[in-house]
Amino acid sequence: MQKAMIQKLRDKLGARYVLDKPEELAVYECDACTLIKKAPELVVLPRSAEEVAFVIQQCNEHKVPYTARGSGTGLSGGALAMQGGVIISMNRMDRILDIDPRSRTATVEVGVVNAWLNEALKPYGLFYAPDPSSQVACTLGGNIAENAGGIHCIKYGVTTDHILALQVVLPDGNIVWLGSKSRRSHGPNLVGLMVGSEGTLGIVTQAVVRLTQKPEKIRVYLAAFDTTRDAGAAVSSIIKSGLMPSALEFMDAFTVKAVNQAFHVGFPEQAEAVLLIELDGYGSQIVHDELKLKEILEEHNVSQVRIGETEAERAALWKSRKATVAAYGRFLPAFYLHDCVIPRSQLVPILEKINEVAERYDITIGNVFHAGDGNLHPNILFDPDDAKMVRNALEGGEEILHACLAVGGTLSGEHGIGIEKAEYMSLQFSEASLDKMKLVKQAFDPTGLSNPEKIFPMRNGCGETHRATTPALLAGDGLWI
Ligand SMILES: Cc1cc2nc3c(=O)[nH]c(=O)nc-3n(C[C@H](O)[C@H](O)[C@H](O)COP(=O)(O)OP(=O)(O)OC[C@H]3O[C@@H](n4cnc5c(N)ncnc54)[C@H](O)[C@@H]3O)c2cc1C
Repeated sequence: MQKAMIQKLRDKLGARYVLDKPEELAVYECDACTLIKKAPELVVLPRSAEEVAFVIQQCNEHKVPYTARGSGTGLSGGALAMQGGVIISMNRMDRILDIDPRSRTATVEVGVVNAWLNEALKPYGLFYAPDPSSQVACTLGGNIAENAGGIHCIKYGVTTDHILALQVVLPDGNIVWLGSKSRRSHGPNLVGLMVGSEGTLGIVTQAVVRLTQKPEKIRVYLAAFDTTRDAGAAVSSIIKSGLMPSALEFMDAFTVKAVNQAFHVGFPEQAEAVLLIELDGYGSQIVHDELKLKEILEEHNVSQVRIGETEAERAALWKSRKATVAAYGRFLPAFYLHDCVIPRSQLVPILEKINEVAERYDITIGNVFHAGDGNLHPNILFDPDDAKMVRNALEGGEEILHACLAVGGTLSGEHGIGIEKAEYMSLQFSEASLDKMKLVKQAFDPTGLSNPEKIFPMRNGCGETHRATTPALLAGDGLWI
C-alpha cells in the first residue's frame, strides 16, 4: 500500500487510529469462524461518517479494497480482508445519540454493542428486540450487516424488522440516509437491501432502530424429554397450536452435559433433549398461554419442567444457553458451525441425520438452536492440529448442509454467507437469481472494492462452484488456518 495514502489517513484520523504493525494487524486476521485467516494491510478506526467517507475516497483513488468490521464475532468470515487492503473498524463510533420513548426509536452509531443499547433502555421500560447470543460483544453495525437473529426473534422478528433508517457511506464516498424515522418510506426498500448485505454495498455509520415495550410478565420453562422425537414433536405442536412463545430453543444431551460442566446449572442430564421456552405477555393472556403450553408438553411426555419466574432465575437459564459455545470449548478447541434453516416439521429427521453423520465420521456435534424458527446450529467440534478430524468435520458438515437443503432448507438463518459459505450459494440459488444479485452489487459498487470475495461464488465452471469452500480448505488453498 502506498505510503502517501497511509500518511493522508494518519493526518485525517490521527496517527494512533491507523494501524500497520504486524502485531496490530494480527488482531484483525480472523473472526469467530475459526476456519479461515487473512490479515489486512492496514486497519483504520474512524470516529465519524465523514472520516469513513475520507477512507473510502482514498481507497478508491488508490484502488485498495476495504472491509468494514464491528467486533469480529461473525461466524462466516465476513469481516476478513480477503484481498488484503484496509479494515475499517467501526468500534470508535460507539455513541447512543438519541432515545425517543414517545416514538419508540433510538438513533445510534453502529459501533454500539447490542447489549449496551439494551442496558441504556432499561429505565424507559423498552428494549431492542434482536438479541444474538453474542450480544455482549457484537455491534449493531455487524447485526445490521448480517441481519442478525437471536432467541427472541421467533416472536419479535430479526434485525431487518427493527431498522427504520440508516446512514450509509456508499462505495462512491457519498454519505446518504436511507429510510425514514417516521416508519413510512417510498420507492424501493433500500434499507431492506442494505440489511443483510454483509458490508458489500457500503458502510453503515448510523441507524434509527425500532424499540419495543417490555412485556408485563415473562416466564421461562425448561422442559426435558427422554427422546429427541418427543421434543421435536412438542416444538411442532407449540407452533401449530397458535401459541406465540417469545423464545423456543433446543439443546441436545451433549450440550446439556457441556453447560452443566461449565456453569454448574444442574440441567437434567438423563434427558435426550431439553427445550427452553419463554412466554411473555400481559394480564390473563399469559395464564391462558401457560395452561396451553403445559397441556402440550404433557401430551408429548415431558419428563421434567423447571420454571424461571424471577429475573435472576430467567437470566441464569438464558446465560447457560447463550454461552454454550464457551462450554463446548472444554471438550475441543475449535468448532465449525452450520446455520441452515429447515421447515420445522423436518427437525426430527434432520437431527437423526446429524447424529448419523457424527457417528459415521467419528466427530462430536453439539446441537443448540432456535427450534421455533427451524434455525439449526450443529456445532462440529474439532482439534485444528488433528488433520483427520479437521477433514471429517468439514466433510461431515457439508453432508449436513446438503441434507438440510434437500428438505427445502436455506444456507443461513442469521450468520450470513461471508467467505465460508459463498461457494455453496449456487446450491440454493439459480444462476439467474445469482446474476441479479451480482447486478445489485455492481450498481452500488462498480469497482468491487467494498468487501470483495464475500457472498458470491468466486469459482466458476463445470458445476464446481458449489463444492469449492470445503475442498478449497481441504486442499489447503491458502484459506485454512
Ligand atoms: C458465541 C457466538 C454466538 C452468536 N450468536 C448469534 C446469534 O444468536 N444470532 C446471530 O445472528 N448471530 C450470532 N453470532 C454471530 C455474530 O455475533 C453476528 O453475526 C453479529 O451480528 C456480528 O457482529 P460483529 O459486530 O461482531 O460483526 P463482525 O463480525 O465484525 O462483521 C460481520 C459482518 O458485518 C460487516 N460489517 C460490520 N460492521 C459493518 C458496518 N458498520 N457497515 C457495513 N458492514 C459492516 C462486516 O464486513 C462483516 O461482513 C454469534 C457469534 C458468536 C461468536
